[in-house]
Amino acid sequence: MTASNPLYSIVVPCYKEAANLVELHRRCMAALSSPTRDIELILVNDGSPDNTLEVAERLTRQDPRVRVLGFSRNFGKEAAMLAGLRAARGEAVAIMDGDLQHPPELLGRMADHLEAGMADQVVARRNRTGDPRVRTALSHLFYVAMNKFGKMHVTDGEGDFRMMSRKALDALLELTERNRFSKGLFSWIGFPTDVIEYENVQREAGGSSWTLRSLFNYAIDGLIAFNEKPLRMVIHIGMLSLTLAVLYLIWLVVEWIRHGVQVPGYLTTIAVIVFLSGVQMVCLGVMGEYVGRTYTETKKRPHYIVATDIGGTVPSDTRRLT
Ligand code: UDP
Ligand code: MG
Repeated sequence: MTASNPLYSIVVPCYKEAANLVELHRRCMAALSSPTRDIELILVNDGSPDNTLEVAERLTRQDPRVRVLGFSRNFGKEAAMLAGLRAARGEAVAIMDGDLQHPPELLGRMADHLEAGMADQVVARRNRTGDPRVRTALSHLFYVAMNKFGKMHVTDGEGDFRMMSRKALDALLELTERNRFSKGLFSWIGFPTDVIEYENVQREAGGSSWTLRSLFNYAIDGLIAFNEKPLRMVIHIGMLSLTLAVLYLIWLVVEWIRHGVQVPGYLTTIAVIVFLSGVQMVCLGVMGEYVGRTYTETKKRPHYIVATDIGGTVPSDTRRLT
């Protein structure tokens, strides 16, 4: 970026963040504002049951640089991020959580990196100090699986907190899939990427809306959205069990020829049935995941429905840079 006063959009998905927004706004503006940077803060209220929308609307009245999009119901963080990114008018766009776990103070450094022109994405990587042990261990497992089977690389600790150039954002917005797994999408679009490390921060107010179960489902989404290997593996497992079953059958026939009818082997019979039906269930499940995804895509429903749209005033002298 070279021209003066580039516009920075900060996109924040908000679900039950009423207690954090005022502080978030203050710190974001303080971190990024400079005489040469214009800012718009886009708060996307993802159908919060609390008064997040009210607090956000109040902010738009106090500061014209704040914009608010409100969903008609809860559509999930991925949808909220997408809505914010689509609405962003900036030359560069930052994405961050609304719970202050992503320190807004890093925004300035991220912008410096982009302005230096060496990267189109600047990602903040956190360590996991203070996170529950189980969750950390499971996350590690997920990243190992993802990087082993997936088609692109994702790194533990690198989340959605990042800043992107308009070029990278436009590329990202080309990806319109319904089952969105942003971590993978960010990596899929490529572009030179800089990393900034930061110390893990615990949530300021409210609780994380992730449960172990939702994290597990998220992991499955990630694994399936980015590779076809599970399908291939299913075929391998099927072939292997078929081969074993045929060998076993041959052995049985040989035994029968050599020794005549044996005592019926309930145990082996049951064992084989259980094993094979287990394999089949897994295979069906995996196939079902892919079929289900195709079904979701073919319906072509919108990712979200916007019920409220309060536009901020963007400085008129903002120029498009490339
Ligand atoms: N979020 C959202 N919709 C949801 C759940 C969460 O927009 O259905 C937002 C939430 O407000 C926060 C971000 O996504 O800004 C991350 O959520 P959370 O802090 O619960 O996740 P964690 O930090 O534990 O990964
Ligand atoms: Mg959080």
